[in-house]
Amino acid sequence: MSTPTQRVAIVGGGASGALAAVHLLREPRDRGALEIDLIDRTGGFGAGIAYGTTDPLHVLNVPAVRMGAIAGRPEHFHEWLAERGEPVAEEAFVPRGVFAGYVRDLLARAEREATDARLRRHCGEVTAIVEHHGAPAAPLELTLADGERIRADRVILALGPLDGGDPIRVPAELKDSGVYVADPWAAGALEEARRDREVLVVGTGLSMVDVALTLCEGGQGPRVRAVSRHGLVPRRHRRTLTNLRRFHIPTETGQIEPIVAAIFAQICRVSQQGDDWRDVIDSMRPVTPALWKALGTAEQRRFLAEFQRLWDVHRFRMAPAVADRFEALQDVGRIVTESNSIVSLEPHGDRVRVFLRIPGATDLDLVEVDRVINCSGAGTDLRRQAPPLLAGLLAAGAARSDELGLGLDVTPEGALLGADGTPSTRLFAIGALRKGVEWEAIGVTEIRDHSAAVARQIVRTGETEEIPLPTELRAVPAAAPTEWEAA
Ligand SMILES: Cc1cc2nc3c(=O)[nH]c(=O)nc-3n(C[C@H](O)[C@H](O)[C@H](O)COP(=O)(O)OP(=O)(O)OC[C@H]3O[C@@H](n4cnc5c(N)ncnc54)[C@H](O)[C@@H]3O)c2cc1C
Repeated sequence: MSTPTQRVAIVGGGASGALAAVHLLREPRDRGALEIDLIDRTGGFGAGIAYGTTDPLHVLNVPAVRMGAIAGRPEHFHEWLAERGEPVAEEAFVPRGVFAGYVRDLLARAEREATDARLRRHCGEVTAIVEHHGAPAAPLELTLADGERIRADRVILALGPLDGGDPIRVPAELKDSGVYVADPWAAGALEEARRDREVLVVGTGLSMVDVALTLCEGGQGPRVRAVSRHGLVPRRHRRTLTNLRRFHIPTETGQIEPIVAAIFAQICRVSQQGDDWRDVIDSMRPVTPALWKALGTAEQRRFLAEFQRLWDVHRFRMAPAVADRFEALQDVGRIVTESNSIVSLEPHGDRVRVFLRIPGATDLDLVEVDRVINCSGAGTDLRRQAPPLLAGLLAAGAARSDELGLGLDVTPEGALLGADGTPSTRLFAIGALRKGVEWEAIGVTEIRDHSAAVARQIVRTGETEEIPLPTELRAVPAAAPTEWEAA
């Protein structure tokens, strides 16, 4: 009897979906053919939102030597650049569009080199996945928005972040006229804004930095006022690579403060050796999921409310050249960042009136700008704003949200947990949907390892394995997850 073909559908063709396909194609198989359906709403395969930009000012926020997309080979991207005759320093921050080319090349190569495997690309939105119990062959059925149906044995959800929506109620008139830009990453979204005099950006994170640099490119463009409740702006990367090292982080209390104290103590220690806080923050990355889990739900909620903003600006940093440019524009008043809440937006001729309130103040501040651009980030509550596909899986009990509602509940290997807590053998997730469970889940470092682990499980049907440590810290013993001993 011949071994049946295994059919895997991947929903989402950003970096996560593409790397899931790469790792599936590269995974050794000793029996049976493999068919992969890679489905993306935009029809872009390998770039997604992060790497879809062609603006050379939009660079990676991780040094080249740590952006490899093959599990166990963080230096692979750096090597790939050299092979193409475009060598860069290990610590270089390369334009994100180049990284998209790398992921696409990996996918094309994996496709060419895989034996007895086929990859089909589909442009369309998956709106539903139904499991046909008792159907032994390809029991999952995916429905696309245009009515097309695809059958699969396993499905990997690589949907990217939840849609954050508008940060405040926006009058329809402002949307229709383009005075309010809901998605700065949409093709051509910033074209008109470059000719404005004054623009207000909602959000002060890395997306705001990208948008502000694009608007002010070549000394032209509007004055940019960026606001967020906290007003914190990403810190800058050092010009040299950070040193990754182990240190003791106490987790037995399940409290945030002892962890913060250990971080500060380590910063003091490494400072005496000529390093700084960046080395400590970067060194925490492989153990962050274990620290996050050790906190428990109540402390995780407190972290989100009290510490997240501070963590984010130290963890997600500006490349040095980006920071130089950004600060130079701040110095001449072209970019202003501030702590402010937007109370309301009101059309005013062909401009917009924005009512702002400084946190803690009672009086409102009124500013008039040509445009408002939303850089407020991803959605944070799946239970309130699930896209149709996830709403269907939740309603059917095939999935459940994590305790915080940031994404889906998954096993450490990425299998979805059903409403009753049973791990699925057919449905998996990679990327932002795992953030509530793991906290560190959206960077390429995690995506490559998660992709490999899910691919391995799928190909060796039924097996479950531990996710390997990122190679940078392979030397760290995979000891008790709650204790990270000093080197
Ligand atoms: C601006 C920006 C810069 C970043 N820079 C870095 C960096 O330098 N280094 C780093 O490690 N990380 C970076 N990140 C993190 C980044 O999120 C990940 O590296 C990676 O791009 C995430 O890819 P993804 O495939 O999970 O999500 P996405 O890129 O969002 O892709 C998901 C895809 O799925 C599609 N999709 C969603 N739902 C459906 C559906 N129902 N049917 C069909 N298709 C669907 C979407 O249209 C989208 O194309 C950055 C993120 C952003 C936003």
